[in-house]
Formats: sequence, C-alpha cells, structure tokens
Amino acid sequence: MGGEGAMWIGQHPFTEEKHVFANMGDGTYYHSGFMAIRAAVAANLPITYKLLVNGFVSMTGGQAIEGELSIDQIVSELDAEGVRKMALVSDEPEKFSDHEFPNSLTVHERTQLEVVQRDFRDYNNVSVIIYEQPCATERRRLRKRGQWHDPDKRAFIHPTVCEGCGDCGTVSNCMAIEPLETEFGRKRQINQSSCNKDFSCVEGFCPSFVTILGGRPKRLEAAPRQLLAAIPEPDRPTLKPGEPYSVLIAGVGGTGVVTIGAMLTMGAHIEGNHFSSIDQFGMAQKGGAVTSHLRLATTAEDIGAVKLNAGSADLVLGCDSLVTGDDLAMSVMAEGKTDVIVNTHEQITGHFTRDPDLKFPVDQLADRLVSAAGKSKVHFVDATRLATRLLGDSIASNLFILGYAYQLGLIPVGSTAIEKAIEMNGVAIPLNKDAFAWGRQAAVNMENVNEVAERAVVAREIPQSVDEIVAHRTQELTAYQDAAYAARYKTLLNKVKQAEASNAQGMEGLTETVARYAYKLMAYKDEYEVARLYTDGRFCNQLAPAFEGDFELQFHLAPPLFTKINPETGLRDKTTYGAWMLPAMKLLAKMKGLRGTMLDPFGYSAERKTERRMIGEYEAMVEEILSGLTHGNHALAVEIASLPEGLRGYGHVKERHFAEVDAEKNHLMGLWRNPQQVAPAAE
Ligand code: SF4
Repeated sequence: MGGEGAMWIGQHPFTEEKHVFANMGDGTYYHSGFMAIRAAVAANLPITYKLLVNGFVSMTGGQAIEGELSIDQIVSELDAEGVRKMALVSDEPEKFSDHEFPNSLTVHERTQLEVVQRDFRDYNNVSVIIYEQPCATERRRLRKRGQWHDPDKRAFIHPTVCEGCGDCGTVSNCMAIEPLETEFGRKRQINQSSCNKDFSCVEGFCPSFVTILGGRPKRLEAAPRQLLAAIPEPDRPTLKPGEPYSVLIAGVGGTGVVTIGAMLTMGAHIEGNHFSSIDQFGMAQKGGAVTSHLRLATTAEDIGAVKLNAGSADLVLGCDSLVTGDDLAMSVMAEGKTDVIVNTHEQITGHFTRDPDLKFPVDQLADRLVSAAGKSKVHFVDATRLATRLLGDSIASNLFILGYAYQLGLIPVGSTAIEKAIEMNGVAIPLNKDAFAWGRQAAVNMENVNEVAERAVVAREIPQSVDEIVAHRTQELTAYQDAAYAARYKTLLNKVKQAEASNAQGMEGLTETVARYAYKLMAYKDEYEVARLYTDGRFCNQLAPAFEGDFELQFHLAPPLFTKINPETGLRDKTTYGAWMLPAMKLLAKMKGLRGTMLDPFGYSAERKTERRMIGEYEAMVEEILSGLTHGNHALAVEIASLPEGLRGYGHVKERHFAEVDAEKNHLMGLWRNPQQVAPAAE
C-alpha cells in the first residue's frame, strides 16, 4: 500500500501496453499514496489513478482516516503535484457546483464513470479520477446506529419479471443481491438487511426494479418467548490448570462474529478465568472472512500463544460454512479432538455477482470438514434460517450457534455468565438472549424448534412432476396469449412425452427440459407481458409481505419506443416513472392480442423478431431430435433442449445471449447430425 502504480515506472519502457489504471483509497493516499503519484508525475507516466474517497479505511474494519482531507484539498494537492487531467465522479455532483476547482478537473455523475474511464485511458500522462462516495458498508452500520441519514427508499426486484441474467450484479457488484429459487428458475432478490442503499443495482438493464418510497421492510414476527421450553443444564467442560480451551469462530464481516467472541471471553472473565482473543478481518468490511481466535484458561500463564496453531482447537464455531471450510480454519482442527458446529446457510459470495449460475459447494464443504475433524465431531445446523424465522432477524444466527454449542456441552463457560455478558454488551439484549436460548433448545429438540420456526411460513408452491410443470405452464401461456397458443405448447409436449417413452424407454429428463424451455421461449417478456406480470396480482402479492407503511412506487424502465440510445454508452438509458405506470400497464396488458401482428408497435424491434424466430426454430429442433432419439443420444438431446437456459435478460443483455446460444446450438446440432462424434452415454 502506498506504492500503487510505482511498478509501472519500471515496466512502461519495456511493454506494448500504452496505459494502465491504478486503484488507491483515500486512507492510502493520505499516508503515502500521494508520493507514488508524485513519482509517476516525475516519470511522465501514462497512468490513471482511480482514487476512491469514501471517508473510511474500509479494508481493515472501517476506521476513520487520520487527518482527513477534503475533496478540495486533494484536488489542490494533485494540481500542485502537476496532475493536469482530473475528474471528480460522484453520486451527488451538484454538491460541488459552487466549488472552485482548477480547469483541469471536470465533475460527473456516477453513471458516467465508464465514459470518463474511456476518455482517460487515451491520455498520455498522469491523470486522476476521484470517485467520491462514502463507504457503503460503513454507511449501513452508521444508519443502524442512527448516526447517518437513512434515505426513505428501498429497492425491490419483482421476481416474476426478473430473468436471472445477473446484469444487476455485474453493474453494482453488490452482495445484497441474492439468488431466489422459484418455479421459473433462479431469480434475484434484495436482502434488505444488508442493502447499502446505493441503488446502483437499479441500473441493471431490466424492468424488474421498483423503488419503494416511504415504506419499511416488514420484520418477521418473533416466535413468542413462552414457546421456549425449560432447558436442562448440559455437562460442560471445565477449565483445568495447565489445559487452556481453544475456540475458533469463523464467519463473515458484519454478522457479529467478533461480538460473540467478546461475549464468550467476557463470560469467562466473569467466572474468574483468563482469556486471550485475537481477530483477523482483512476484508471483513466487504463481507469477507472474519476469524476470532480465543483461548480460555484458569491462569494467564496457561494461555501461551494467542493465535491458535495447527490442530489446537477444541471447538470451531462455524458461523459461515465457506469460511469454516477454508484452509485457515481447517488448519486448527484435529481429528477426534475438535468439535465443529457449522451453519449450513448458503451465504452468497462476491463470485455470484460475476457468475449468476454459481452453485454453493455444499457437499464438498461437508466432506472437507468431516475429513478434518471426524464424522461424529461435525454438527450441521441451519442456524440462519432458524434464527431468522424464530427471531425475525438473521443477525441472531451467531448467538443461536453459541447456544447450540453450549447445549452440546462444548462451552466451558456457564449460561449465567454468558447471559450477563450479553447484558453488558448492551445491544439488542432480549433478542440475543432469546437467540442463545433457541440455539440451546435446538440442540435438545430440533424437531420442536423446526416446527415453531415453520409455523408462520407460507410455502411457495413449486410444480414438481413433469405433468404438474406442463399443466402449470399451459395455464400460464393461456394467460400470456390465449388457449390456442397454450395448445400449441401442449401438443409439442405430448409429442416429446410419447417419443421419450417409446424411443428411450426408462430414461427421463427430455420431456421436463422441453416443458421448461419451450415455455421460456414462448413466454418471452415483451412490453405486454411485463405489463401483465405487474398487474395480474402477483406483484402486489409479493410486495405486501415484504413492505409496510404508506409508500409510493417508482418504476425504472427503458421502453424502446420512448427512450433514445445514449451516444456515449451505445445503450438505452433507464427512466424513472411514477405510480401512474401501474394503470398504464393495466391498459397495455389488455392489448396483448396485438402481439406479433402488424399492429404491434413493439413487434418490429430486432429483439422481438429474434424472440419469435427462436420459438419456431426450437420447435423444429425438437422435432428433429425426436425423429432420431435413442438411448445412446438421449443425454445430448436433453443438452440441446436446454439451450434456451442461456437466453436471459432484456435488451442488449439478451441480444448478447442470442448470439451465444445460436453458436452453441450450431455446435450441438453438428454433433447430433454426426453421431460418430458423440461419446456413448454412460451405462
Ligand atoms: S433480470 Fe437480470 S438485471 Fe434484472 S433483476 Fe433479474 S438478474 Fe438482475
């Protein structure tokens, strides 16, 4: 840190590369980064520094920046250093309208960042883009404590309109966008607890985003306390002279990992014992891994090294399964010695913003942990689901895990001392005590705890069998267009079902695949369909349990007939529309009869034409597959039939996918038509 871009001084004369970007935070800039920029200016380097001014040292836990510099001071300093091209990019550029900046600096709105970067990469000397935005995670924390302005606004994704393309994750890089598994496949939802409210996700190119002005996310009702049964005290390990007890807590930043470590060690202190504790949270501020190393002992001399060494842990509290299955946490486990409690919740990671199909490695993680600690020593518990449903807030998960471990007899501190430590912590005392108690109860009677947790949950009905899927989609297509359109789908599915039963007896998968993807193509989301999905009751049904209060809605759309192409990005910009959009959509939905006819004003776009072409091509492709279907090529047939899975999103996002799917189709159909190239199916 502080030497950003310095290597480029040496590399530049020996490479074809004409220009580079270097990232730097304001904390680094202040303590030493400005010297790297000075060196780059002295060397006349073609480099652009992207200076993030967010007001906190985000990488190491959100500390304040010492000797904080204002934007004006930074700009003056850079100007004095000889930087002759600068841009200031901000969420609120209007804040700077009366500032006196040098002529070498231009001010831009955040959405212009890409355009600014393209311009700066052609500049042949040192330039600086100052990106002004307070650290989003720190803002969220301060808001929870009432120390930062909390805009009366929330973003919501209408799951039925969402196509699961992942563009919102790409443009925002935000981990509050989580997968939502639905009857139509994987969609997106916004985790309102971890949302930083920077609203960059709304720029995702689709009509699924709605902003809620004035409403509050509805909190789940906590289960009544009286349902907590009396819990017997477990046999606990006792601390003995010369035998420290070592605990590793492994989780992610912002979920209270350090807090439960503090409660446990404070409990030990209350009982007159000694402890040491050290926390590692390099990237915790970004939802990264956090580990707390704790040692509890009867004397200070017994503690020894503060950090747990290889194989020394008596207990690992795995608040996050990925962090628990990581090399660092695994290294302190020893087979037969270490007990491991693992929260099985699939906590989304940063990779999901780049890979919309990312699957959580559930089985691999379980295998790794069992191989490190031994089968009887690893205890899996779905703490986040249970704590959220029982207590109304996922933040209770880690105390739940502590309670679970306590009741299994793995914590050498008494419950009275732990509860006293919870009180001394002074935050959410009843919630934390209840979480600890529900965790204990889960260890005694999981069936009962599960039953209480599931009482208030309305299960999403997802069609399971092939017949259910076909019936459900047929009904949807009738509403999408009409009975004749749905009958076309049904006829195709009947053919597939018969052919699979007679030509590939005993094999399955093709009918279900065609049921899903013929529907996906036929129900392409044009203007009429998006309007229908917002006004057929589903939108209100999904919004009602999520928000409460007197709120207004805003829609973020880019209707092709009413939006121009942005000359700088080459894409259509989204525009914000008020609640009047709902009645307008109601009207539009009723005009679905125009779809695909000469009177359809939307039907002439390249996107709509391709969507219609693809339906016919898919039907023809399925017919071709059925005519040559055998046991040997069944697997390839299923692969071909699932090609539309890759067709997701709207506008330019979908257009990109059209080309990819077409190329893959040509490849797979080549294999189909030349059977000698197809590897035989496994017996
Ligand atoms: S359609 Fe794509 S961009 Fe829109 S919410 Fe769904 S995943 Fe995000």
